[in-house]
Amino acid sequence: ALPVVAVVGRPNVGKSTLFNKLIGQRLSIVEDTPGVTRDRIYAKGEWRNRSFMLVDTGGIETVTDDVILKQMRRQAELAIERADVIVLVTDVRCGVTADDSAVASMLQKSGKPVVLAVNKCDSIGEPPMELYEFYNLGIGDPFPISAAHGHGTGDMLDAVYDLL
Ligand code: GDP
Ligand code: MG
Repeated sequence: ALPVVAVVGRPNVGKSTLFNKLIGQRLSIVEDTPGVTRDRIYAKGEWRNRSFMLVDTGGIETVTDDVILKQMRRQAELAIERADVIVLVTDVRCGVTADDSAVASMLQKSGKPVVLAVNKCDSIGEPPMELYEFYNLGIGDPFPISAAHGHGTGDMLDAVYDLL
């Protein structure tokens, strides 16, 4: 079976945008409304001649009573269990949020290798100062990316590749 790479993170950080950018096809739904992607969506991806299954997940809300959000979190947990490598997506514009920290510690407990992507770094050139705050998540180097434009996704995929 192909190795599985799961894209996880709280809602609205750009997981589906990244998923679509990486597979080069618009297979999953991207919307401004948080929490639109309710089901895991799979696609076959390839990087440097290595194939893998890429999984988009619904956002992980860590503290909620909402049934649908709980269901989405369960889906994400299942995706994490089945994944070989996890890409944790965060949003540079929000900085590190409580939900980011909760998801990061959930991933640490899973023992799965994680690549930390800091999305919405849209301008080319020096990474923004805000990037360094993400070291506080304690899951390694943050990779600045722009899922919308594709910046930085190559370096991020190299890091994924090294963990496959
Ligand atoms: P998800 O809930 O994590 O799957 O997030 P989406 O992929 O649905 O994106 C949420 C919002 O962030 C949408 O309005 C996207 O257009 C926007 N977005 C995603 N990636 C980027 C990016 O790299 N730069 C900017 N500026 N916006 C982005
Ligand atoms: Mg989504």
